[in-house]
Amino acid sequence: MSIVYIVSAPSGSGKSTLVNELFKVVRHLDFSISYTTRQPRGSEQNGKEYSFVTKEEFDAMIEADEFLEYAKVFGKDYYGTARRFLKQAEAGGNDLLLDIDVQGAAQVKQKIPEAVSIFILPPGREQLEWRLRNRGQDSEEEIGRRLDTARREIENYSKYDYILVNDRLEQATDELKAIVLSERVRRSGKQPSVEEAKLLATAQECRLERARDRVRPILDSFNQGR
Ligand code: ADP
Ligand code: 5GP
Repeated sequence: MSIVYIVSAPSGSGKSTLVNELFKVVRHLDFSISYTTRQPRGSEQNGKEYSFVTKEEFDAMIEADEFLEYAKVFGKDYYGTARRFLKQAEAGGNDLLLDIDVQGAAQVKQKIPEAVSIFILPPGREQLEWRLRNRGQDSEEEIGRRLDTARREIENYSKYDYILVNDRLEQATDELKAIVLSERVRRSGKQPSVEEAKLLATAQECRLERARDRVRPILDSFNQGR
């Protein structure tokens, strides 16, 4: 059985950056390329970051029950995970990583309760705003919408198994890697090696129940801006 990893984060938190780093260091992990009705941004290529489809094509996929989950994100565009990616990962003996929003994560957790869910947080509202601006991909209006959505999304953090604060990129990458590899170790039922025990300890620090104190000031920074 493939392990399904769900990664969610407010836009601009650095999720794509972290996931790219993860794929450089972890093997036997497939990325689920979502379908979306939004327009490609910057250097995005069809079939690489996303499969870009029309609303009509998206609706036809819903009709044919091709999605494991789908949602309307930012009240604007549709995004969905095709069931096919999970079948392919299983056939190839790989695990699968889904980069999806909180609505999609809830749907997947309901269908696959043993999926591992990870919520990535920026260090604070100010840093998130700076990262969104600095990325230079969105209009001011879009940045405002994303910051507003971020505040609402962050309130869902406690539905996730692991919380990762992306402050220093290198540390956050190590933590994400530790979460992924430690879940493999845990599910193998084997006695962990010394190296694996270190991964388990790092991952343990990111478990929801350990992360609450780190999350509180971040939540406050978003609520103060209201
Ligand atoms: P997301 O996929 O969550 O929308 P991105 O990966 O596109 O976010 O990152 C948003 C911006 O923040 C990018 O310009 C990226 O280079 C930058 N970034 C990512 N992680 C960090 C970090 N730890 N510190 C500073 N900047 C970061
Ligand atoms: P972006 O437009 O910045 O690439 O993504 C916007 C949001 O849509 C992100 O939170 C991303 O995780 C989410 N998203 C991407 N693909 C999917 C998907 O297949 N399903 C759901 N529910 N959300 C997705």
